[in-house]
Amino acid sequence: MKQQFDFDILFVGGGPANLCAAIHLTQLIKEHNAAITEGKKAGPKINYENRIAILDKGISFGSHAISGAILDPIALNEFMPDHLKQGFPIEGVIEKEEIHFLTKTKKLKLPFIPSFLENRGHYIISLSKVVQWLAKTADANDVVLLKEVAAVEVLKEEGKVIGVKTDDRLKDKETGAFRYPGPKLLSKVTVLGEGSAGYLTRKTIQELNLDKNCDPAIYELGVKEVYEVKTGAFPQGQCAHFMGYPLTDKKSGGAFLYAMDKNKVAIGLIAHLGSQDPMLDVHAELQRLKLHPYIKKILEGGKAISYGAKTLPCGGYYSVPKLTFPGLMLVGDGANFVDSKKLKGIHTAMKSGITAAQVLFEALLKNDFSQIDDYEKRLRKSWIFEDLWKARNFTPTIEMGVPFPGGPLLGAQLLLGGANPTGKFKILPDYQKTKPFKDFYRRRKQPHPLHPDDKLVIDKLTDVYLSRAVHDEHQDSHITIKDPSQCLECRQKFHEPCTKFCPAKVYENVENQLLINFSNCLHCKTCDLKCPMDNINWSLPEAGGGPQYTCQ
Ligand code: SF4
Repeated sequence: MKQQFDFDILFVGGGPANLCAAIHLTQLIKEHNAAITEGKKAGPKINYENRIAILDKGISFGSHAISGAILDPIALNEFMPDHLKQGFPIEGVIEKEEIHFLTKTKKLKLPFIPSFLENRGHYIISLSKVVQWLAKTADANDVVLLKEVAAVEVLKEEGKVIGVKTDDRLKDKETGAFRYPGPKLLSKVTVLGEGSAGYLTRKTIQELNLDKNCDPAIYELGVKEVYEVKTGAFPQGQCAHFMGYPLTDKKSGGAFLYAMDKNKVAIGLIAHLGSQDPMLDVHAELQRLKLHPYIKKILEGGKAISYGAKTLPCGGYYSVPKLTFPGLMLVGDGANFVDSKKLKGIHTAMKSGITAAQVLFEALLKNDFSQIDDYEKRLRKSWIFEDLWKARNFTPTIEMGVPFPGGPLLGAQLLLGGANPTGKFKILPDYQKTKPFKDFYRRRKQPHPLHPDDKLVIDKLTDVYLSRAVHDEHQDSHITIKDPSQCLECRQKFHEPCTKFCPAKVYENVENQLLINFSNCLHCKTCDLKCPMDNINWSLPEAGGGPQYTCQ
């Protein structure tokens, strides 16, 4: 088998940022080449056949893609204004939206929608379907699509990134040798767009010290189920956002309900991983939310058909790392572009992709890749950074608790263009914020356990089944404990938070031993971010493993 392949541009990660980048880059090249053919432009054409590639670790493009998902089409309109005519898949256009404050049994509808949360006219989408469509479009534009390929190492030579090494396959248990060693994929520029907390992105940011001048990245965990419901239970074009219950008492975040078509809804809950609660279980909070009378009425008689989980970066402006290095660019969620105030990141991921494409096109034109740091300069002048700047203190304020004590501060920030009257917050990584069990539950009761009924309250393993997650079990676990002796200390001090926060029941305490059911893993990376002992190492499993989302 060939051990090395050469490309001009290599996109690592088949999400919306990289796919939009690859599509826009090939659009620009095609327009350029056509202008030369028609005599409207002088100069050489750009040869891009087999020169631009995009790889993804999933079994297919879209299989690991999951989001809320409301899409603001602002970036899409910039490079593909006729996307709907071309068949861009949407589940509906938002005509009616509401925000409710929930208590355990009641709801209070907000009389107005703050402008930054206004979604009328935006699309309700399934990100996995959108990614499938973008991948087909990229394929039609002659981008080389490499599915089931995982990049495990960024290759460097003479102070420059020159490509990636891909994963080795089929380890012989006896000899330790791999039957299929992963080839190197060399490129003039490598664009990392692996999504939230991407394995290679985080490793590369650290190795190249790209985050030396920014706050640590912080995250939320979102879990989502898709339900088939009675026709009309929640009409198409409608969406509702929820604050308050069940995320109270040092848990913060929000929840949503979107109509996906006439008899399908997406119900999801997103919680900050900065919570002090050592028993934080976002999956359980979603089950609690579904028992709220308002939501129960909509879902009752329905059936869960799909489940998924992912983290999303919420540090925003202050956590954006340096975005380029010679031969390297960072795009999308991995670069922390999610606008936490608007609760959206797909439009910013797309915008970062198309900005990268414009810079890459100019580099290909000149055959000079030394100016790719223009990407960061352009992006910092674009609406992404304008929005991130306005939201720069939003997450730590929400984490304080809303309406009190965070509400008044939030109001002041809205008046002051995002500035916080009490100064900039000190940001700690999420894993450092968990409190010892004894301290946190000294004056609190633990929430009542839930009793799964497979209708409204679904247990984690049933949900894992609905995510269709699978990993070939012949491989070594991609999740390792750095120092097993620390697990005992964690058990005593924190009561093993991993057995709660993992949304896929990967971690189990069996007779005081921590068992790791790695085959269930949904690749959300929460364990790597939230273990209070910073003792879990999530690395890449063999490509092709993981969830198989089709309508998330
Ligand atoms: Fe997420 Fe880690 Fe659980 Fe996998 S093992 S689903 S990455 S928390």
